[in-house]
This record gives sequence, C-alpha cells and structure tokens, in this order.
Amino acid sequence: MSVERLLEGNARFVSEVFQDGSKFADCLKGQSPHTLVIACADSRVPPELIFGAKPGEIFVHRNIGNMVPPGDWNLATVMEYAVCHLGVTTVAVLGHGRCGAIKAVASYHGHDAYIPGWIYHGHQAYVSLVERMPYPDDATAQVEWLCELEKENVRFQLKHLRTYPVITTALAANKISVVGLYYDMATGIVSKVEE
Ligand SMILES: [Zn+2]
Repeated sequence: MSVERLLEGNARFVSEVFQDGSKFADCLKGQSPHTLVIACADSRVPPELIFGAKPGEIFVHRNIGNMVPPGDWNLATVMEYAVCHLGVTTVAVLGHGRCGAIKAVASYHGHDAYIPGWIYHGHQAYVSLVERMPYPDDATAQVEWLCELEKENVRFQLKHLRTYPVITTALAANKISVVGLYYDMATGIVSKVEE
C-alpha cells in the first residue's frame, strides 16, 4: 500500500537524513526562505531537490502547469505570506520539460470536470506561440515546439504575476525581483527564461 511505502520512506529519512544534520534543528527556530518558487505539481519536478536547497530555504507553491491565474486566492495567500511576512526577495515561476499540462494546453481532448478550466490559463501562451511559430508537422520539431510553449507559458505567467498588488507593490519598492526559470528534464539544468 502507498501509505506503507510513505512510512517506510519516512523511517529511512529519519535514520539516514534527519538524525544527521543541524539543518533540521535550525528549522525549529523558524523559517526565512529567500525565494518563492511557483512550480508544476509534476512528481518529477521537486523544487528543493532541483535547486539543492535545504529545508527552510525556499517557499513553494505547486499546481498543474505552474500557472499564475489572475485572482487566484490560494496563490495570492501564498504570495502575501511569502513576500510580506517571510520577506522572500525572489519570486520565481518554474516551468519544465515534458510537461503534461502544457501538452494539454496545446491539444486537450478529454472530458474532465476541472482540468480544461485550469489549463485555459495557458491559452494566451499557446495563441502567442502559434502566431510566431506554427505547430510543425515533423515529430522532432513538435517536441521542440512544446519546449517553446513551456517557456512561453512561463512568460505569460510572469505577466499574470504582475496583476497582483502584493507583487507590484513589492516590485515598486525594490523588495523583490521576479524571474522565469525552466527545468530541462533531460539534463537537470535550470536556465532563465527571458521575458
Ligand atoms: Zn508540468
């Protein structure tokens, strides 16, 4: 059963990792993460692991497709707490390769209740990319095109980020910077997405 796998994994964590490090003792004193990462919920994209971060270093919000929907109460609360109370100095939107959500943004044919409405937040990125780079016929080129869409989606989510007063106020006061990042699943390398 999954829960047994979880608890066995936790027992390994306690004996192999937790016992051996002051980093967890420091967590008892509180947290002061330097960055808020908005990432995809994809199980292959664990932010702390990718950034080599210790517990307490990064504050994480994850959802399907690393979306920043304008007016999202859940994300707004995370951003308000991270920026106004924890004092993060960077807000990063992290896209990634082989993203199922972004593939669905390009071609969704299902009948789910919630998924279509959510991935619609990536629709502007799709329209923008199709205008300057039509979807190719060649299979290899299609993979590259989807990588471009994953990056274009990050750019549009950064635009959405700037619709939140908590972000625009902190930007105007030079308290934070915002950045787009992209995780290449084939190499492990994270690179900046230029806006
Ligand atoms: Zn994804």
